[in-house]
Amino acid sequence: MRIEKILVFIIPVGLIATGFFTGYSNQRHINVISLPVEKPDRQFYSFPIFESFDIKAFLSRIFPETITPEEIKRKYQSEKVRILLVPGHDNIYTGAVFGDLKETELNVLVAGYLYELFKKDSRFEVIIARNLNGGFYTKEFGDYFNQQRNSILSFMKERKDLVKNLLDSGDIKENVAIEHNFAPGDTAVKLYGINKWANENDIDLSLHIHFNDDPSRKGYYSGEYSGLAIYVPEEQYSNARASKDIASSLLNELKQYFPLSNNPLEKGTVIEAQELIALGSNASQEGAALLLEYGYIYEARFLDPKVREKVFGELAFQTYQGIKKYFDPNYLEPGFQTSLLPHKFRNNLKRGLSASVDVLALQAALHEQKLYPPPERDLGACPINGNFGPCTERAVALFQERYKKEVLTPTDLFRGTGFVGSYTLKKLNELYSLNY
Ligand SMILES: [Zn+2]
Repeated sequence: MRIEKILVFIIPVGLIATGFFTGYSNQRHINVISLPVEKPDRQFYSFPIFESFDIKAFLSRIFPETITPEEIKRKYQSEKVRILLVPGHDNIYTGAVFGDLKETELNVLVAGYLYELFKKDSRFEVIIARNLNGGFYTKEFGDYFNQQRNSILSFMKERKDLVKNLLDSGDIKENVAIEHNFAPGDTAVKLYGINKWANENDIDLSLHIHFNDDPSRKGYYSGEYSGLAIYVPEEQYSNARASKDIASSLLNELKQYFPLSNNPLEKGTVIEAQELIALGSNASQEGAALLLEYGYIYEARFLDPKVREKVFGELAFQTYQGIKKYFDPNYLEPGFQTSLLPHKFRNNLKRGLSASVDVLALQAALHEQKLYPPPERDLGACPINGNFGPCTERAVALFQERYKKEVLTPTDLFRGTGFVGSYTLKKLNELYSLNY
């Protein structure tokens, strides 16, 4: 993804005197355009009573809620929750590129795994915006973009005018924190089109799937940053509260297996964004929306095709679980809590191996044992990536010491070696190659 830009809107408390505050509503399909936009009475700015006023609570009502956590949870109980998967970018604007890797293709691959997981769950109805083969928009969306182009353009204009009015009247301040590339015109129209389609088709949750890039990186060199981030609508928007609520449940699962972004701009991991169309910028989306940046495109676990396939399956698996647990906190996946297990361990494994599916499963097994990442390290320093380095070696040694009698004693060893030989393989298989 390239974030277009992040705006921080500051709404003076004087607005309360204008009749702008129209009350709290959790009804969907509220037309925010109809809200009156008036010049606030400036004398109220220094009115002492407002100093203790809960500005956050007030701001969240500028755009009345179109979806609430309570409403979407109720829906899960009584009917299907409708999820729209949007693999980011398209075949023209491919997003991040690293060597042969194109973000647009990676996004479709992860979306494919997500689609399968949600599809086999009867509590969800899942729709995908792009074809898993070829990555073009599905017929439904392709036709919608063509046939509804004019109405999408006027929808875009309406929503933009609304915010522009607030800016022009001085009631809202534009505060550009970060400059990003703007979505190309055609992409912007499609993203507004997707939002409009989602509104019309009663989508409860849109998931936009992306991989990140470090803009300061050159050519084939890796960038400085790694890890995942989840973007959510800025808190004033009508879909903000439900989106953020779902994001935190999702983060609880993802953070157990994947490192969090170390980019200072993504501090906190769940980032509110005002100007991302995908999340409903200019109040253009009624359902909840999340934009997932699953990691930086050049990170080791995404580079080898075999490891990547497993890692993507796992990203999807943890995403599905995070969303499932939002609706059903007691939900427990049968078997292992990772898609990387069970695994049949056949080969000796040692430090220096890289891009190995066996090592990836070994790391997952050690993670299940709570030995990986090893003590005082985190997933940023020791990611689950299929590379056998000092982190894995240390964790293997601890594993061997935990099962000393079976693993070390037969060969007269007292301390773990970090080398996965026959006795360690036997123990790993005993624990993690079960037939499910
Ligand atoms: Zn992207």
